[in-house]
Amino acid sequence: MLDKVLIANRGEIALRVLRACKELGIRTVAVHSKADRELMHVRLADEAVCIGPAPSAQSYLNIPALISAAEVTDASAIHPGYGFLSENANFAEQVERSGFVFIGPRAETIRLMGDKVSAIKAMKKAGVPTVPGSDGPLPDDETEVLQIARRIGYPVIIKAAAGGGGRGMRMVHSEAHLLSALSITKNEANAAFGDGTVYMEKFLEQPRHVEVQVLADGQGNAIHLFDRDCSLQRRHQKVLEEAPAPHLDQEARAQVLKACTDACLAINYRGAGTFEFLYENGQFFFIEMNTRVQVEHPVTEMVTGVDIVKEQLRIASGLPLSIKQEDVELIGHAFECRINAEDSRTFMPSPGKVTLYHPPGGLGVRMDSHLYTGYTVPPHYDSLIGKLITWGESREAALTRMRNALDELLVEGIKSNIDLQKDLVRDGHFQQGGVNIHYLEKKLGL
Ligand code: ADP
Repeated sequence: MLDKVLIANRGEIALRVLRACKELGIRTVAVHSKADRELMHVRLADEAVCIGPAPSAQSYLNIPALISAAEVTDASAIHPGYGFLSENANFAEQVERSGFVFIGPRAETIRLMGDKVSAIKAMKKAGVPTVPGSDGPLPDDETEVLQIARRIGYPVIIKAAAGGGGRGMRMVHSEAHLLSALSITKNEANAAFGDGTVYMEKFLEQPRHVEVQVLADGQGNAIHLFDRDCSLQRRHQKVLEEAPAPHLDQEARAQVLKACTDACLAINYRGAGTFEFLYENGQFFFIEMNTRVQVEHPVTEMVTGVDIVKEQLRIASGLPLSIKQEDVELIGHAFECRINAEDSRTFMPSPGKVTLYHPPGGLGVRMDSHLYTGYTVPPHYDSLIGKLITWGESREAALTRMRNALDELLVEGIKSNIDLQKDLVRDGHFQQGGVNIHYLEKKLGL
């Protein structure tokens, strides 16, 4: 087992990784910016190193500072968490070149999956169902592009190969707008990602977002931990997630779960990962793979009993997966409400001092949060301040628990989206399960 892990992240995920390390007897190094001295995990870690000023570019994204921190503390590995450098192949490469273990896939895998065109190609080859599309970058020849769109059928979506975070995409309803949309998206992709490569897909009108959690040890073992539904999104940001995804076509589901584990073996995947799909009319369409632990991983942990972060640490230690596919049992249902420091109606961030924090409790209730009374939420980072997760033997039971838990949760001194979450868990359509990715924005009148 690794003996000392540097946690290259902050907030709730840094605390989550720290807890997993402690359970495995691994010592921990917290790194933090000058604005983050008061973070909970910084207090709990064996060692702490300040890596730079508040702006992420000078601290959590500062590769030399992170590697120096690992050197001076004699850490053996670096856990990137999610966001920040977690899907940065250059970082993974530099970490390994400097003699540390990167807790995640190999740099080449991150690179393969980070380019959406190469990712789709690899997935298609491995038998994962993809969205009907251009099967590769769009050619320069405009007549050819027009033909591709006709073959796919309108509406289509033009996407940047290097895109991410919901940026670099443009939907096109008819041929009249295709070429102008193409040049705008190319220019945007060049400006934003330094790569103007774009491709085309059929635009699915009413899909759900369904994703599959996988674990692979890079030693010939790969398993899935079933699916999650993350369709409740605002501006491509997930708000409320659940596992398993309700009301799926069971045959299509079984096929896609198998295809995901096959794909892990085909690309010799190592670590935890997520295959993201759009799901419409009983069919799955791969859109991208995330090569890291995800914010919403706890819902999967609650229904499978598998500790995903501990598995990541085991895999990075060179150990095989601790469980086999046939041992993974899906029990009950789980929800996760993301708690953000932002106004419930305007979504304006609301940093500041938390004058009272009271987490809910009880059987089947889990609160992953770095908050405590007196903590000041800094203005420099993502507004996620916690995740409230509930489990129940049925979807209805888990949802009832979530309603009660949200009523118990108190965060005072700053604004939060707790009221929005309270509203969502009482929404009639959501209660039935299976709303599409546009549902939340429509409900919010956006
Ligand atoms: P990113 O990496 O920027 O998150 P994705 O490829 O995952 O990009 O797409 C982000 C979101 O854009 C999806 O969750 C979905 O809402 C929408 N989207 C992407 N591709 C399609 C498509 N072919 N049809 C409809 N919506 C799409």
